[in-house]
Amino acid sequence: MVSTFPGTSRGNNPNSLPTPDVAVVGAGPIGLAIAWRCAARGLRVVVHDPNPGSGAAYAAAGMLAPVAEAYFGEHELTGLLTESAARWPAFAAELVAASGADVGYRSEGTLMVGLTTDDLAVARRLWAYQQGLGLPITPLRPSELRDRESALSPRLRGGAYAGTDHQVDPRRLMSALRTATERAGGVLVPTPVQRLTQVTAGTTVVAAGCGTAALTGLPVRPVKGQVLRLRAPEGPGFRHVIRGFADGEQVYLVPRQEGEVVVGATSEERTDTMVTSGAVLRLLRAATDLVPEVAEYELVEALAGLRPGSPDNAPILGPLPGRPAVLAATGHHRHGIVLTPVTADLIADLIVTGTPDPLLAPFTPERLGPAAGVPAPARGSAAARTTPQEESWN
Ligand SMILES: Cc1cc2nc3c(=O)[nH]c(=O)nc-3n(C[C@H](O)[C@H](O)[C@H](O)COP(=O)(O)OP(=O)(O)OC[C@H]3O[C@@H](n4cnc5c(N)ncnc54)[C@H](O)[C@@H]3O)c2cc1C
Repeated sequence: MVSTFPGTSRGNNPNSLPTPDVAVVGAGPIGLAIAWRCAARGLRVVVHDPNPGSGAAYAAAGMLAPVAEAYFGEHELTGLLTESAARWPAFAAELVAASGADVGYRSEGTLMVGLTTDDLAVARRLWAYQQGLGLPITPLRPSELRDRESALSPRLRGGAYAGTDHQVDPRRLMSALRTATERAGGVLVPTPVQRLTQVTAGTTVVAAGCGTAALTGLPVRPVKGQVLRLRAPEGPGFRHVIRGFADGEQVYLVPRQEGEVVVGATSEERTDTMVTSGAVLRLLRAATDLVPEVAEYELVEALAGLRPGSPDNAPILGPLPGRPAVLAATGHHRHGIVLTPVTADLIADLIVTGTPDPLLAPFTPERLGPAAGVPAPARGSAAARTTPQEESWN
């Protein structure tokens, strides 16, 4: 469905539309959720993307894991993950109502496990840190793990339960967000934005994932993740998200209603999207170490996505320095799906009220230094060949 602004019938040619209140660059989960929230509040919204939903979200597993993803030294980020995960049930319900589409939200929780004694020692150190933050974790003995999921390997040395770590299906999410945005009056324009000067709007939101660096100069870099999709012929023999350490490898298995199991993921400082046999081997070995029946599943898909990483692994949210009408909503790295609700709410509120919510304070572009948000020069120009920013950020 192609929408037009209320009162117009001029299709989705951006030049034929009245100046929008908000132009969003990038129709990933972040851009679309912001567009939906803004359109639902009566703003005229245009979203530019040649290929909506084709970014990191297409590869993503969809874990909503504020507990399992609480890592040492990422205190502010953990707070935002927890806040956003708490908003997910209402966000999912609203989105289902607005789009008429299921998003695959599931709340069975997550089992975190260790295969060997060494794996368990590493895992326990992390769980102790997470418990120290007050996050809800219940330690489980091997027999208790297998009481909850009999598909788990009897070799596991121990684990823990994170009941608040849920999941959603990112591909369903993207489709639902697109429908909800269009139903609310948002217009999708299927062309790329080469330069922000191309875009005319009251406020421009740059949510272009890994494409953000070239548009804004922000230090967003691709972090490659290889991931597999398997299909269990009779449905997966487990209901929880399972994530753990297996002989030093980190792996997760995310079961879906329709029999799909997502197994991931590598984390590589690379810009290509090639799937390597070594990564597939490591992921499948670790997955079958934790859940042996996985070896009987069909291998349906192997692909790589590029996470939009930031220097401190936290998102970059708010106006570019000296450019109050250009907002960044990017750098969500491993957490763009879980952070979708809070990002959309905070950015839409900022656009509508002009006042930043205090939750945004730790995540401003300014925290990354004075050069953050200075646009890179056009490719091929003399400046482009000599700017250290672009050399190190791309
Ligand atoms: C293997 C893997 C597993 C993951 N698992 C999880 C998980 O379990 N939980 C979780 O929370 N997160 C997960 N993530 C991270 C998550 O996918 C990202 O953080 C999230 O997709 C970021 O959303 P985004 O909208 O900012 O960017 P993207 O999803 O990358 O979307 C960016 C969009 O911008 C468009 N674009 C780019 N440049 C331009 C331009 N110049 N003009 C117009 N449009 C443009 C692209 O076409 C794309 O549609 C995972 C990622 C990977 C790769």
